[in-house]
Amino acid sequence: MRWRRIELNTIARHLSDNLQSRRSYLQAQFPAIWSRMVTSFATYPDDAPPTMWTCYTSSLLLRVHTLRCAIDLSFRNTPVGHESLCLERTLPPIDLFMLTHLHGDHYDAQLIRFIEQRGKTAFLVPSPLVERIRQECDLEKAHIKPISDRETVQIGGLQLRAFRTRHVNIPDSFGYVLDVGQERMVLPGDIRDYATNGLPALERVDCLLFNVWLGRQRALSFDPTWIEAACTFIAHFLPRRVLFSHLYDVSRPPEDAWTFIHAGWLQDRLLTVLPETRCYTPYLGEPVSLSIGRK
Ligand SMILES: [Zn+2]
Repeated sequence: MRWRRIELNTIARHLSDNLQSRRSYLQAQFPAIWSRMVTSFATYPDDAPPTMWTCYTSSLLLRVHTLRCAIDLSFRNTPVGHESLCLERTLPPIDLFMLTHLHGDHYDAQLIRFIEQRGKTAFLVPSPLVERIRQECDLEKAHIKPISDRETVQIGGLQLRAFRTRHVNIPDSFGYVLDVGQERMVLPGDIRDYATNGLPALERVDCLLFNVWLGRQRALSFDPTWIEAACTFIAHFLPRRVLFSHLYDVSRPPEDAWTFIHAGWLQDRLLTVLPETRCYTPYLGEPVSLSIGRK
């Protein structure tokens, strides 16, 4: 067993070093990455296929033709944190702001208040959270679009269906099925229990955005049990493509921070379970088309 202990120590050190170097990089580069990204988002062609940008861990921007969306956009865990006002001011107009749940890396009341003050943004909010968000973010009631479990709404060219997810201790956590024309994307949000009963049964999924999580305080060890559980969850949807997200939250301790290395472990395993599925890990600020057959 001695060799195994040495091997695990090596993995742990490698993962910690990897996170530390990413932290240093983002502390220096995050404002520049943000600036490039919002320019790309704002100027992206209206006739391009639906495209998303990862802003930070699980914060996303999404263009569906002329519709500009933000999903779980939060500065709270970024290297710039709450000193982000200069970055907020460069955020292009947002038509639809979507929330999955209220963990700090997904929910930034200061940013939402800022967006609300600019006007013209609708906020799609899980209905059990509406009252709390309205109060904490000073939202006008008319600007909130509540959505209930299993409800479907149509906004512009985007059809959205909500479903409740198993984010243990966070009961009002929603995922979304997004349909744009023939393309279907699933955003399950954060999952802490990978049981698949109760998940929506969908005929086809073009793209699954998977927030990597492989067990509480398990990020410094290689744990096949959690990798299997996550792959079973992903396989439920039979996605044609998986995009990995929720990586490099540099505010987290190393034992709870997920990296490209963990995404790689999942990808390795998924390729044996779903050999036809393509996996990709977007870089921060990179435009990623949600149309299958394109990057
Ligand atoms: Zn969460």
